[in-house]
Amino acid sequence: MPAHALRGGCHCGAIRVELELPREPAAYTPRACDCSFCRKHGAAYFSDPAGRLHLEVRDQTALGRYRQGNALAEFLFCKCCGVLVAVIYAEDARRYATVNSRVIDGDPGFPDATTVSPQTLAPDDKVARWKAVWFGGVTLAGDGTGQAK
Ligand SMILES: [Zn+2]
Repeated sequence: MPAHALRGGCHCGAIRVELELPREPAAYTPRACDCSFCRKHGAAYFSDPAGRLHLEVRDQTALGRYRQGNALAEFLFCKCCGVLVAVIYAEDARRYATVNSRVIDGDPGFPDATTVSPQTLAPDDKVARWKAVWFGGVTLAGDGTGQAK
């Protein structure tokens, strides 16, 4: 089955995403998180543990990181244009992430988002869920940590 390649990023281009999905975008129902932070952004996330995700920070000074709730995961947003791009969780040098479906270029054809409430999960359950449904082995370039990939 051919992979479906998607690109996207923040509005000004400082943070870009490139991803490959094993299924067509119509097969992914974005998840609109009902926490107070995601609601303010209108964010709705999608991911696939069988897919691939690469995050590229083209302007390191524009990379904003925000932790809220129980602070386990990190929201990546652009300090220049204000767009919330992805949520990332790192454990044992492996990165997991989910992408805000609103940042994908063009109209990939995602179904309408469904509301989810991960804030009701206990921290351990939350992490287990991220590992099960988010992109795994996420690569990140240009964030200034010295780890190119
Ligand atoms: Zn931007």
